[in-house]
Amino acid sequence: MTQVISHLINGEIVNDNNRSQEVFNPATGEATKKVALASKQTVEQAISAAQAAFPAWRNTPPIKRARVMFRFKELLEQNSDKICQLIGEEHGKISHDAAGELQRGIENVEYACGAPELLKGEHSKNVGPNIDSWSEFQPLGVVAGITPFNFPAMVPMWMFPLAIVCGNTFILKPSERDPSSTLFIAQLLKEAGLPDGVMNVVNGDKEAVDTLLSDERIKAVSFVGSTPIAEYIYATANANGKRCQALGGAKNHAIVMPDADMDNAVNQLLGAAFGSSGERCMALSVAVTVGDEAGDALVAKMTEGMKSLSVGEHSNANNDFGPVITKAHQEKVNGYIASAAEQGATLVVDGRNPTVEGFENGYFVGATLIDNVTSTMDSYQAEIFGPVLQVIRVKTMQEAMQLINDHEYGNGTCIFTRDGEAARYFSDNIQVGMVGINVPLPVPVSYHSFGGWKRSLFGDLHAYGPDGVRFYTKRKTITQRWPSSGVREGVSFAFPS
Ligand code: NAD
Repeated sequence: MTQVISHLINGEIVNDNNRSQEVFNPATGEATKKVALASKQTVEQAISAAQAAFPAWRNTPPIKRARVMFRFKELLEQNSDKICQLIGEEHGKISHDAAGELQRGIENVEYACGAPELLKGEHSKNVGPNIDSWSEFQPLGVVAGITPFNFPAMVPMWMFPLAIVCGNTFILKPSERDPSSTLFIAQLLKEAGLPDGVMNVVNGDKEAVDTLLSDERIKAVSFVGSTPIAEYIYATANANGKRCQALGGAKNHAIVMPDADMDNAVNQLLGAAFGSSGERCMALSVAVTVGDEAGDALVAKMTEGMKSLSVGEHSNANNDFGPVITKAHQEKVNGYIASAAEQGATLVVDGRNPTVEGFENGYFVGATLIDNVTSTMDSYQAEIFGPVLQVIRVKTMQEAMQLINDHEYGNGTCIFTRDGEAARYFSDNIQVGMVGINVPLPVPVSYHSFGGWKRSLFGDLHAYGPDGVRFYTKRKTITQRWPSSGVREGVSFAFPS
């Protein structure tokens, strides 16, 4: 019988016999499991469980909440092979890449272990005669997270560890395309000692998401996914009075300066453009070369470097990257490659329809290099989300920066150069949220925060790190007076000063 990935509500696996859909192994094209799609009633059941668990969890000392995370971290490490296997079977990413994703997720758990320190608040003595004032950070209540397919372990862990140690209870709606690793990870929390109802998982689609967005018991929503959906989530959550951070899509450019260490830039670009089949929101998908010499050198060296890349199935660690997520997505990526060629770009390395022995029905796209791309081409404007690197040639650094600043997305960017002055000017003036200097994937570590600018993020606060603590708490400021005995205040109608 086909395994059905169901929901985790109040510490128990719940199957609501509502609709379901198939989960595929993208390397074979086979439907291997089904995922339950929660009904409105099931989501409401999860919200009720989280609501019921909130008062006790809110009053649990932060150090005790943190201890659950310490145990959870150990369990994640002990179960890492299984988690990476589940990611590989449904997402397709190679085991070493899955291990990297899991490690970055674990780092968010480590940050959450600092809950007592993170929640200490601010205190001022003697703001007036015998008056002290302090700000404390209280949990919001039941909060929700909605996550994409491309990081089924890491992105959920950008959200729930911090939300939970801050004293909230949580409902996670993972991607319906690769739900198994996410559900398995959530189940480890119970083993780590988390009380039932504090963490709940509802699998599903729009019906589940819309229920979370409309139920007044949900106080905040964190979303990561594509920009059109991020925009919808942000607008709907706001209209319903919820706090929301919605992270969207990207088009990340690397500027390659004439003075760059070209061999280093090429090595970095190979990993950042094609790793995880380009299905990373921080993937470098455009190289902007400054000057013809840099353009020619980059294209020649990339072409050479790409010859040794290997696309294939997740369990073979010799492979560099795996398939893309679905058949439809494979066709979309292939379509963008075709359109670039039709619109006048030069297809230097065409990765369409690679031969992957034993996996003829997999959704593979090989590494692709396209030169002489211009900013009006469809393949430049859209987020392709595949193993495709496009090269745009410009004459000056200013022109390169203008191109980046004009793009609708502003997630990540990078400059390859040996010139500190140019690098400093670039990082200071570029309209992008996360900047690398000779670092191709500048994904902030867990004790900083992650977020793009422009249409890559809707909301004020970035994900995880210090912004995450602010997002999952509300500030309360208390002003307290204990008059000395015998001292009585007179009546005053002036504003207190
Ligand atoms: P997606 O937007 O299709 O789905 C994300 C989530 O939204 C899923 O849980 C899905 O079930 C839900 N969803 C989809 N359609 C919906 C609808 N009509 N109404 C309500 N909910 C809906 O994204 P994806 O394809 O899973 O992920 C890839 C995208 O995510 C890319 O655009 C990528 O750049 C982006 N992403 C961004 C970041 C970031 O930090 N900015 C990180 C990872 C991925």
